[in-house]
Amino acid sequence: MTGIKKEPDALVADRSTLHRVFLRPEDETCRQTLVKYMEQILFGLHDFLNKHVGVTEEISLIKLAEEYTDTTINQNPQKKLADVIKDIIDEIAPRAVNVASPYFIGHMTSAIPFFMVHLKAITAALNQNVIKLETSKVLSILEKQILAKIHRMVFNFDDNFYRTHVQNTQTTLGVFTTGGTTANLTALWIARNKLFPAKGTFENIEKNGLFAALKAHGLERVVVLVSKRGHYSLKKAGGILGIGHENIIPVDIDSNRSIDLVKLKNKIREIQADKKTKIMAIIGIAGATETGIIDPLPELAKICKIHGIHFHVDAAWGGPVLLSEKYYHLLKGIEQADSVTIDCHKQFYMPMSSGMVYFKDPKALDRIVYHAKYVNRPGSVDLGIKTLEGSREANSLILDSALKIMGSRGYALMIEHGIETAQHFAKMIKQRPVFQLVTKPQLNILTYRFVPEKIQKKLDYADKKQRQDIDAILDNINKQIQRIQREAGKSFVSRTRLKACLDDDHDVVVLRTVIMNPMTDLKILEEILDEQEAIALNIWDS
Ligand SMILES: *Cc1c(COP(=O)(O)O)cnc(C)c1O
Repeated sequence: MTGIKKEPDALVADRSTLHRVFLRPEDETCRQTLVKYMEQILFGLHDFLNKHVGVTEEISLIKLAEEYTDTTINQNPQKKLADVIKDIIDEIAPRAVNVASPYFIGHMTSAIPFFMVHLKAITAALNQNVIKLETSKVLSILEKQILAKIHRMVFNFDDNFYRTHVQNTQTTLGVFTTGGTTANLTALWIARNKLFPAKGTFENIEKNGLFAALKAHGLERVVVLVSKRGHYSLKKAGGILGIGHENIIPVDIDSNRSIDLVKLKNKIREIQADKKTKIMAIIGIAGATETGIIDPLPELAKICKIHGIHFHVDAAWGGPVLLSEKYYHLLKGIEQADSVTIDCHKQFYMPMSSGMVYFKDPKALDRIVYHAKYVNRPGSVDLGIKTLEGSREANSLILDSALKIMGSRGYALMIEHGIETAQHFAKMIKQRPVFQLVTKPQLNILTYRFVPEKIQKKLDYADKKQRQDIDAILDNINKQIQRIQREAGKSFVSRTRLKACLDDDHDVVVLRTVIMNPMTDLKILEEILDEQEAIALNIWDS
């Protein structure tokens, strides 16, 4: 057999060891070891919290890669479970990234409440498959309930609506997905299918395909409009749905750094003048990945209503802000969306990976119904009838439990901490003469860059061309700041490219921070800026 190592080993794979794997640990000592490690997994990994961010062990990626080049599978067992777990704790964990550190403020992945690990373990232990009732029973029912709760958080229909739909086998308020990417894909899938009603011999696009749909409707092209801050998952959806990702059209942003409504309206007019092109959806972003900025949702809803266009809100990041009585108003207009994406593994603080998509119309998902005789029967609660994914874990159990443990107020506290800490952080950046705040935080994300005082004055008086030259030098320094800080392993911020000045034609390198860990405080943020300043001045002086 190729790729399989044959070797005489102390450990063997035979029927009796196989049985043990399915029953329980081999003996009392083994059981105790497993319990000990379980304790370490569940609580001990949190020891990381007080350590620093990076690879605790200084090792280059090249070196690391050299250690992982074995491409064969062992025939006999190499290790006992307890030893494997020990290895993971001793060797893998220290070389992974400590996303739980309060100094890790670069990405949308962060610390999670410790009980999430328990809930994840329970989900794995139960191993329910919510694709169908026969492998999940109450978990399919529970999923429908939590979907109704979050639907209510977003759309807030009356009691009667939820009484009608919460356990209705004929309707679906939303679905769980693997994340925001598949949630956005599902939303646009529905929007696409909705765009092509039956006509003549054409029944529907799901059955007859895109070519037949375009032909029947006398069209040549279908487009989606979203601000240039749109997440790249939308482009993937454009590719998969066959409309082409070049037809996910970026609309420029205005001085608020959200979608420019004048330019959007012009674009709509321009597209509608071409009778061969149709707009499939307009997307509002509720918390842009790079800047956290929220599009003017009420205005977008109005435009979509006037033109009869599907209105999708990508609230993968911002959705849970609705739980905060203090800040839910920022998402006003979301209730007018036709579909809404919300990630669980972002601001619901759930472990990887889980997302959701909701539809205002409880019948919207009928456009993608699929049955299989052996599994999903029509009219059942089989959740797999209307999902992109097939087999799927019961993530709803984690969300439902987390909401019980935290309460909406508990979530609100985390959200409010993020927003308010980001506001203070913005002030700190402004107070330091060597930094320039590039995007101020509407939610808990902001961007800034290093610009020495002298250069700031020069930039103020420079023309476009001169600014471009100066920015090229600054880009280089800001890239180095980000890299050197990351490599030092104490703190982590990320970087991206945005326009520093909206009149410019060019983007500049900016440092990006996402504040979602409740343990990240102002003292830590001062330390992070101090470190960046020291790195920057070191480069600048040399
Ligand atoms: C994160 C994000 C996505 C993609 O979600 P994944 O869970 O990474 O697939 C989509 N849209 C926005 C606005 C996001 O922030």
